[in-house]
Amino acid sequence: MNSLNLRPIGVVRCQISKSSEMPKQGIPARVEVFSEYAPGLLGIERSTHVMVLGWLHQADRDVLQVRRPRYTETEVRRGVFACRAPVRPNPLGVTIVKLLNVEGNVLHVDGLDMTDGTPVLDLKPHAAGFDGVFCARSARDLSRLADPDSEHALRSMVREAENFHGERCAGVVAGARMVYHAMKIFGVAQKDPRVVLSVGEDGCMADSVQALVGATFGNKRLECGSQSAFVLSCEGQELWFRPRYLEHTPLEELLEQDIDALFDCEVSSSSLL
Ligand SMILES: [Zn+2]
Repeated sequence: MNSLNLRPIGVVRCQISKSSEMPKQGIPARVEVFSEYAPGLLGIERSTHVMVLGWLHQADRDVLQVRRPRYTETEVRRGVFACRAPVRPNPLGVTIVKLLNVEGNVLHVDGLDMTDGTPVLDLKPHAAGFDGVFCARSARDLSRLADPDSEHALRSMVREAENFHGERCAGVVAGARMVYHAMKIFGVAQKDPRVVLSVGEDGCMADSVQALVGATFGNKRLECGSQSAFVLSCEGQELWFRPRYLEHTPLEELLEQDIDALFDCEVSSSSLL
């Protein structure tokens, strides 16, 4: 095959036109589908989440390896096929976004990380049963210790917990704070298999923490506690979190407040109990 004939089916419209200014978690955007392709949208509103395949027109196509100094003390190189950098021979972006609503040939979405004017090549519904692999692990989950850029780390964790739980609520944000704090205290990556979780009563927080640390009954890293406290343990160390009343605190405040404002925290050694 000598050439591939791709025709954009639409274009991204949003507030940001420089890729360097795009937040990793994306922003609200419109996907404007060209009128000749609009019949292809029939039924798309039945999906809550949609995969957007875009042509990242600003990306360098001659790069095969990138430096990844961000989360490690020493610089490491990664092949572009082993990471999600936009630079690659065929700069295709694939992002799963929340479909807010459909107005004619325009999709209003949230969480799209493609700049204004990005050509859209395809749209597909995201099917959790096929595409959502809860047990999948990447370098981000297993080798990255607590990201020193706590704001970026927390926002990415909130998104992950929301993807599991179904809404962005106080429990989701509090769960992300809990896990990030535990990563720092234990010095472990987010889904380190040594971390065991005992969940407290708050169901939203339980979903969030379970998703973020990757604990399930099947992998024996999930236990049900009988009280309000959440306990994360790792190799004999235990971290107790007793949630304070958070229900009416704005989510942005929950992201920024001191950890002690959210929980009564306590570290203990399980061998002493
Ligand atoms: Zn909730």
